[in-house]
Amino acid sequence: MKDQYQQLLDLFKLKEENDKYGRTWMQSPFSFQDKTAATNAYSVVIIPEKSEYQNLDSTTYFFSDYSQNLWIDIPLRWLREAIKKIPIGFPPACEACEGLKTVNYHFQYEYKVFEEKKECPICEGSGRKDRYQRTYHGKAFSENVGVKIGSHIFSGDRIIELIESCKILNINTVTMVYQTKRYKKTVFKINEVEILCMPIPPDDDITFCDDLGQYLRDELKEEK
Ligand SMILES: [Zn+2]
Repeated sequence: MKDQYQQLLDLFKLKEENDKYGRTWMQSPFSFQDKTAATNAYSVVIIPEKSEYQNLDSTTYFFSDYSQNLWIDIPLRWLREAIKKIPIGFPPACEACEGLKTVNYHFQYEYKVFEEKKECPICEGSGRKDRYQRTYHGKAFSENVGVKIGSHIFSGDRIIELIESCKILNINTVTMVYQTKRYKKTVFKINEVEILCMPIPPDDDITFCDDLGQYLRDELKEEK
């Protein structure tokens, strides 16, 4: 297998530290049909080549179960601009001190109460649950803001994967080849490599900071 393909499989496979649910089969690439794939449960990369990796045909056969209904070229430079607009997430408040950074210590002796305000020992005075909340690719993106591609909104992690895949394959365009209006996978292609992505689940709180459709419309206007 080409070194580039191996790099892609390593990018998409579930990293052990992100495996909250014991899905060990995702921690390694696998083969199905006449292809090789890797997944982190939110996205799948499919390489059009057979390999020696474990065959998981029976559990992953549906990955290829779609028929192309689109052909929209997405320039890598737009992905790079769009990801800069996704705000960086703020870690949630510490539950012990409710974000106040200090807690009250009580000491009682013979009906007398001694109280002292001290640094919260749980968050060590940061007031936050985690000092730096890391998501899948090590960036702390806001969870409810993404980038709109077609009718779905994708998180920063998914956009990073598309950008990194372009870099690995040395190609400047990702093509969206499949999407439906319902909350289901979108399929992107970079040459013969397929990337299946799940959007952020639709919710009233979800917003987007950049829209591919708007970008393409603006480009068209400039050309005229
Ligand atoms: Zn605290």
